[in-house]
Amino acid sequence: MNKEELLKKYEATSNEKAKDVFFSPGRINVIGEHTDYNGGHVFPAAISLGVYGVYGPRDDKKVRLYSGNVDGDIVEFDIDDTNVEKDEDRFWANYFKGMITYLREKYDGIDHGFNLYIEANLPSGSGLSSSAAIEMLMGIILKDEFNLDVDRVSLAKMGQRTENEFIGLNSGIMDQFACIMGKKDSAIFLDCNTLKYEYLPLALGDYEIIIMATNNPHTLADSAYNDRVAECGRALKKLQQKLDIKALGELDNDTFDEYSYLINDETEIKRARHAVSENQRTLRATQAMKDGDLEKLGRLINASHESLHYDYEVTGKELDTLAEASWKQPGVLGARMIGGGFGGSAIAIVKKSEAENFKKNVGKIYRDAVGYDASFYDAEIVDGTKRI
Ligand code: ADP
Ligand code: MG
Repeated sequence: MNKEELLKKYEATSNEKAKDVFFSPGRINVIGEHTDYNGGHVFPAAISLGVYGVYGPRDDKKVRLYSGNVDGDIVEFDIDDTNVEKDEDRFWANYFKGMITYLREKYDGIDHGFNLYIEANLPSGSGLSSSAAIEMLMGIILKDEFNLDVDRVSLAKMGQRTENEFIGLNSGIMDQFACIMGKKDSAIFLDCNTLKYEYLPLALGDYEIIIMATNNPHTLADSAYNDRVAECGRALKKLQQKLDIKALGELDNDTFDEYSYLINDETEIKRARHAVSENQRTLRATQAMKDGDLEKLGRLINASHESLHYDYEVTGKELDTLAEASWKQPGVLGARMIGGGFGGSAIAIVKKSEAENFKKNVGKIYRDAVGYDASFYDAEIVDGTKRI
């Protein structure tokens, strides 16, 4: 997206001068799905699809938000009055309000209003973390423009709190961490239990990552997501009768197998088994990445999808169609759904020379099976949220 154009669009909605332009990326996740809130590992990366924000300070206390992607008027509120009931009509403003509220709770200095024009080339509600991109955009803007002494990881935590307490989604830290801590051409190997992390170059050689959006907005996903969090929580509690653990991510497959009788509930066993096995796959996949064993990485990615399908039951027809169609194509190392599930997006690791064929073939299979088109994007891995 062009900076000049963004500035023009800002000017069309504001009388005050624009000061700075920021970009906040969406994310993919190579492997480690639904492991973050289970104290396991994830392996995400920030992508060049994201949300742009043009910021202009105001002399008064007004905050005026305008999204180029949402029909309707400017959302306006007083900077001192953000900790209000959620705005149900203009729900998107809540992601900003949450961040403003939590930053003001901890830091002094946000003492005047501002105008913010945002525009995304990241599809919203597609499992690519537009919500975290927006939260981290707001976080970095406030940090930079008001000189707040807050570090990036703390901003990620505030974004998670915004989702948990303001939005009502009991999600983990992965999305916000990936958006704000992203590094060009690397993925982040993050232990969500300790927040220790390591950047691993996404050295894929002749291969590239293709993002496939189902274009099926995951409308019912939030309540199903919270159900999964609760099911894993119940399984953990039962295991804690005999095991001294704080999270499912602390278990290996053998220990889980040995103690799973304590859970005594078919659904909860499946959910916990996914949380444990997915974390183990993530450890093995990142080791395979370090060893340069891309074929093994690909197989583990496929296995991740199967576990999300059979044990976690968060895939659905669209995501299964994309993954299964991908597995059949030449030059594909692996493919799986990413994000919360029930729609959203998938990724495939595809030989560059086969990429065009891949998109054509999978696109056709998807359209024939589902009745509408998927969207395909080449994943470019970029730095986290920043001023541009
Ligand atoms: P995801 O994070 O996977 O994209 P979510 O459901 O968590 O999906 O977040 C999507 C929500 O974020 C949208 O419903 C909307 O409220 C907000 N949002 C995303 N992109 C934009 C945008 N460009 N402008 C305004 N709001 C947006
Ligand atoms: Mg989100």
